[in-house]
Amino acid sequence: MSGYNVPCRFCGKLIPKESNVCPVCGKSDPIFLRCPKCRDILKKDWFNCPSCGLSLRIKCPKCGQETFFDNVCEKCGAELKVVCPNPKCRTEQLPVSDKCIKCGKPLNI
Ligand SMILES: [Zn+2]
Ligand SMILES: [Zn+2]
Ligand SMILES: [Zn+2]
Ligand SMILES: [Zn+2]
Repeated sequence: MSGYNVPCRFCGKLIPKESNVCPVCGKSDPIFLRCPKCRDILKKDWFNCPSCGLSLRIKCPKCGQETFFDNVCEKCGAELKVVCPNPKCRTEQLPVSDKCIKCGKPLNI
């Protein structure tokens, strides 16, 4: 581990700067909000990713309301995470599209 530790934006614990998942609380993108497709850093009030055009407003699989994609729904607080049904992939991702960001298989949202 390097000495460049920064606080997780969810739990506030110091974690390695390059973390994709917080080792303490398990939330994804703990340092910056990143596009799940191109990994560009995003701002919370944006509607689309400026690099790849991905829509950043998604429908919560739990409450059905529109929310900014992040670890949890703005409206009901449910975790916005789906696992790819492809047994060879099983990538955990935000439900930003109806297809897996990695293998392209349809997600059962
Ligand atoms: Zn954390
Ligand atoms: Zn993007
Ligand atoms: Zn919700
Ligand atoms: Zn997949």
